[in-house]
Amino acid sequence: MALDNVKCTVDSCKYWKSEHCNASAIEVNVDAGVNDPNKADMTNCHTFERK
Ligand code: SF4
Repeated sequence: MALDNVKCTVDSCKYWKSEHCNASAIEVNVDAGVNDPNKADMTNCHTFERK
């Protein structure tokens, strides 16, 4: 089942479809070398797979 309520702009991902995520589930982790993120760009989707 697609994640219709998860908006995504990563159009190079194989799960991306019409501005939304078409995966059955996603994993989002802290990124940018920090442990306590306070901005969105310090997190990333690790379900991403290149088309
Ligand atoms: S898996 Fe992650 S990067 Fe890919 S479309 Fe879904 S939310 Fe976006």
